[in-house]
This record gives sequence, C-alpha cells and structure tokens, in this order.
Amino acid sequence: MKFGNVDFDTYFKNYPDANGFFGKYGGSYIPPELQRAMAEINTAYQTICKSRRFISELRRIRKEFQGRPTPISYLERLSGKLGNVQLYVKREDLNHTGAHKLNHCMGEVLLAKYMGKRKVIAETGAGQHGVALATAAAYFGLECDIYMGAVDIRKQAPNVARMEILGANVIEVTEGLQTLKEAVDAAFAAYCREYKDAIYCIGSVVGPHPFPMMVRDFQSVVGIEAREQFLEMTGELPDAIVACVGGGSNAMGLFSGFLNDPVDIYGVEPLGRGTALGDHAASLTYGEEGIMHGFNSIMLKDENGEPAPVYSVASGLDYPSSGPEHAFLHDLGRVKYDVVTDDETIDAFFELSRMEGIIPAIESSHAVAYAMKLARKMDKGSILINLSGRGDKDMDYIIEKYGVRKG
Ligand SMILES: *Cc1c(COP(=O)(O)O)cnc(C)c1O
Repeated sequence: MKFGNVDFDTYFKNYPDANGFFGKYGGSYIPPELQRAMAEINTAYQTICKSRRFISELRRIRKEFQGRPTPISYLERLSGKLGNVQLYVKREDLNHTGAHKLNHCMGEVLLAKYMGKRKVIAETGAGQHGVALATAAAYFGLECDIYMGAVDIRKQAPNVARMEILGANVIEVTEGLQTLKEAVDAAFAAYCREYKDAIYCIGSVVGPHPFPMMVRDFQSVVGIEAREQFLEMTGELPDAIVACVGGGSNAMGLFSGFLNDPVDIYGVEPLGRGTALGDHAASLTYGEEGIMHGFNSIMLKDENGEPAPVYSVASGLDYPSSGPEHAFLHDLGRVKYDVVTDDETIDAFFELSRMEGIIPAIESSHAVAYAMKLARKMDKGSILINLSGRGDKDMDYIIEKYGVRKG
C-alpha cells in the first residue's frame, strides 16, 4: 500500500535508513564518545536480531515468562452502551509486570547478554521503566543501575521498593530539580564511563539511533499478535486502531502491525488541563521540529527553544517529545494524532472498570477515552484499542484525587 511517497509494502526495510532517519526525523545527535557506544549496540543488534538462537530464545521467554500472547477482549457492554460500533482491547495489561514495557526490556537485556555485558543502565521517572528493566535484569542475572531523581524517589516509594527487591541499585540523583531530566543526564554520564561493561536501555521509541528502531522491533510483537488474533476472532481487520502516545512505544508496537492495511490509525496524546504550554504533553499536536535527548523529532519548546515543562494526569505520558517515527507518520498523514483531556481520561478509566471489569492504567485510559469518542461518531465498524497497562499502580492517586465514584 502506498501512502504519499511511502510504500508500506517495503516500509520496514527502508525505515529507518542506515543512519536511523525516518525522513528528516531521528538520527543520532550525541557526543563522539557516546556515538562509538551506539555504533557498537547498532552493529550487535543488526547481527544478533537475525540469529536463530536470539529469535527462538526471545520467543520462548515471551511465552513462558511474559505470558504471551496476550489476548484480545471484546468489550460487549461498553460497545452496546455507545451504539453500533464494536470495541476491542489488546490486553497488554496481562503481560507480566502489568504493562507493555517488558516487551522491549526483555529484548534489550537479552541483547546485553548476547553482547557479553554484565550490567544494564537506565533512568526512570515514575519508576515503571525501572521496574520493567529490573525484572528483565533479574531474569538474566545482570546487574542493573537505575538513576532516579531524589524527588521522584520520595514520590514513588512502592516502585523504588520493587526495583530494590528485584535486586537493582536505585541511584539517587540530587542535581537540579531532582526529577526525570536530571536522571537522564546522570544515566548517560554513567553510560559514558561504563560502556565497556554495560549497555544503556531506553524506555520508549526515543533517543538516538538505534533505540527507536530496536524498541519498535521489540514492541512489534503486539501488532503482529493483534492482527492475527483480530482476523481470527472477527474474520476482518478492525476499521480503526487506537493507542496512547507518550514516547510512543506501545503505539508503535500496535501500529507496526497495521501500517500496510486499510485501517485508520489514531495516536492519542494527553491534553492534560488544557491547551496552554505547561498544561499538557501533546507534543505532536502542538509542538515543532527540534532536537532533544539525541534525536530530531517534534517537540514542545519553551521561549528559549529548550524542552518545555509538560503535564499529564498520567506520569507515563508527560514527555515533551515523541519518537521520531511518530513525527514521520504524523507529517505523512498515515497516523492521525489527536488529544483527550485529563477529565475525559478519568471518565473512561471508571467506565471501563465498571462496564467491563478491567481497571486500566491512566495512560491507557487516554486511548479508551478517544475510542469512546470515536465510537459515538462512527455509525458502524470496529475499533481495536491497545490497553498498554493495568491500573493497579494508579490506585492510591485515583482514590486520593477522585474517590471511588460510587453509584
Ligand atoms: C510507560 C507507559 C506508557 C507510555 O509509554 P509509551 O512509550 O508511549 O508507550 C503507556 N502506558 C503505560 C501503561 C505505561 O506504563
């Protein structure tokens, strides 16, 4: 299928190109000493990812440890309430550790093992990436250093405990505002010192080449499974697919399975409290081209051209940019990016819980909220939503802020 000047029959061969570009987006804008380390990861990945041993080991792990394939569930009651459109969810909430992040963490740490590394390094904000990576490191018996801002350590005590129980070293970062940005800098600095023994494991389809490609490839299991399962369940493809977009890994995982199909694709960004800069994290919708964290994409900038402050009710979505492949698909028009507010998201959180017995992560509730709006507008057809994670991690916040909304 052709779309604009892009032929999706051969898309994965051509995108990204050898230098990690999706059109003008992507690439690798990092200091020379890191460039060398990235080149080493890239070369290793290019050979290892094609080896039979690596592929069959990853396949076995997905089945025996992660619990894949995750099912697709039909949302019968919610669909009935909304009208004539049939809603389905891909259940990444049932993946081990309760979200899609383990899909790429298991791949990244398996790669580290094949490269002969003994340690993995990453930063974490709310702690979800840290917990997924600590899980993978424990499974493979590798050391795991997680850099985390001191403020986030205080706010996310249960995730800090999880990482430590799993055997990871949580390293407190006390520079600057003591949150995610400083943690990224500290993790990169550590990686520059330790790259002979360690690899850096990124948490989404962001960062310098080869990470956006690698993480997409590891997440593509979601789209491959979903396409097959949906065809088997219904005999057809869905009319539309929907996923939330922070950095964009769960979305790229699902989307990659359907890019070459006559399926409408929607990426949902967090509009938070509203359209003013600082009140949302809808980078593709309101941002402009720019370079941050080593890659060129579409980002939200402040008046000095620096990454703008962002906000979302979902801590996994408050990132001032998105992966370069999303920027590319955005400009091409293959994927439509749109927004939902915090309020619409929280309504969807309670609706899915009450109507279907599935408590979604607040991140995933963005996709549910958008699909519900879409379903009211369409008069027939089907929508497949990526339910990127479960809501257990959000319980304390929901109870404190919204109560249980009885009745
Ligand atoms: C981290 C997270 C996200 C956001 O990350 P993406 O890379 O945009 O997918 C979404 N949902 C859940 C449940 C998460 O934990």
